[in-house]
Amino acid sequence: MKKMILLPDSERITQWYNVMPDIPNGMLPPLNPATKEPLTPELMAPIFPMGLLEQEMSPHRFIDIPEEIQDIWSIWRPSPLIRANFLEEKLGTRAKIFFKYEGVSPSGSHKTNSAVAQAYYNKREGVKRLATETGAGQWGSALAFATHKFGMECKVYMVRVSYDQKPYRKSMMNTYGATTVASPSPDTPTGRRILAADPNSNGSLGIAISEALEDTVSREDTKYALGSVLNHVCIHQSIIGLEVKKQLAMVGETADIVIGCCGGGSNFAGIAAPFVTDKLEGKKIRLIGVEPASCPTLTKGIYAYDFGDVSSMTPLLYMYTLGHDFMPPGIHAGGLRYHGMSPIVSALLRENLMEARAVHQMECFEAGVMFAQTEGIIPAPESCHAIRAAIDEAMVDPKEPKTIVFNLSGHGMLDLSSYDKYFSGDLHNYEYPEAAIEEAKKHLPVV
Ligand SMILES: *Cc1c(COP(=O)(O)O)cnc(C)c1O
Repeated sequence: MKKMILLPDSERITQWYNVMPDIPNGMLPPLNPATKEPLTPELMAPIFPMGLLEQEMSPHRFIDIPEEIQDIWSIWRPSPLIRANFLEEKLGTRAKIFFKYEGVSPSGSHKTNSAVAQAYYNKREGVKRLATETGAGQWGSALAFATHKFGMECKVYMVRVSYDQKPYRKSMMNTYGATTVASPSPDTPTGRRILAADPNSNGSLGIAISEALEDTVSREDTKYALGSVLNHVCIHQSIIGLEVKKQLAMVGETADIVIGCCGGGSNFAGIAAPFVTDKLEGKKIRLIGVEPASCPTLTKGIYAYDFGDVSSMTPLLYMYTLGHDFMPPGIHAGGLRYHGMSPIVSALLRENLMEARAVHQMECFEAGVMFAQTEGIIPAPESCHAIRAAIDEAMVDPKEPKTIVFNLSGHGMLDLSSYDKYFSGDLHNYEYPEAAIEEAKKHLPVV
């Protein structure tokens, strides 16, 4: 048995896969929030470079990956596919479990894949500076690294609570040369307004997005970057699943079940979308997206047009949503606390091309600890959701042989305080109340 499966250079992947043209009933376009008309690339041009806007609406199934991106990716790509045989032994299952390890990237998660691609397309169009927001800090540190590689500046608005609770993510961003401020900040109109009302505001992703957007539109040299949700981000992440397919083939395996955790949907889309073609050809394969029970966008959300941010500044996206005024509960998988879901992943669910499942945070940490004690890697709390589902699937009938692949989207070396809280009994389960979803329905934009 081969433990670690590495792709040789001759098998290097040079094109991304775009699942959009393969979605049977297509996708609804993003809308201009003012006119409710489909958004044109021209309208978005002050925010994103044309290279990314073209991908956002691309009708092409395959898109060349520029050499410059592949060069930087070569620091950690192709990433390993690893057989979790020690975990299998511990469980006593006949299922074969493989995990794709994205924690080998410089910032420690899959987010670096898209960060490098986004920095490249901005640089190509002469952009000198990127503004972004970050919640838990994984996206901010990925973009800080990527912008520095292309000689650009980076300004990160980091949600105040995370800024205080995750000081090492901030140190990482500073090391890569980015400027990081706690959001709300005194640097933007929204930040000043909120600070004036409440100098001790904890901030939120919604506030930080508004600040980064205000920063972007106030300067000629700056554009905005988003680490998940959008189509171009999912396209960049398809490298994960494309590599997995080749790696499985190298050891004569095919996947029966493919699993990823879902925050904005990019790492799940990344590992799962390349398998959609197999599903459409009639192969028996299940794709499972796993989300927190405290933020059950896919399992309990509403499929509708909604804003991407709290302050209603973004275009309207057609997606599963808990409502843009969703207040994130204090769960520890910070990267999964988002009210919406990638329109691509939402469409896959609507078309029954995937399954969605919600799990509680206590059972996720339990799975993460078992994984760390058997396979050695301490997983990010987000990734623990995928591990939980992989273990559960392996144990449905432990005697049944099957092949399960999950995405280990990142390591948890900067999330150890969350593990401490789990061990000390300070973590609890939280089920998002139905009443809050009913309430959110009333605030959806009317289209
Ligand atoms: C951000 C993050 C996620 C969630 O984001 P997606 O866009 O859903 O992939 C999952 N895992 C890790 C490690 C993250 O940093």
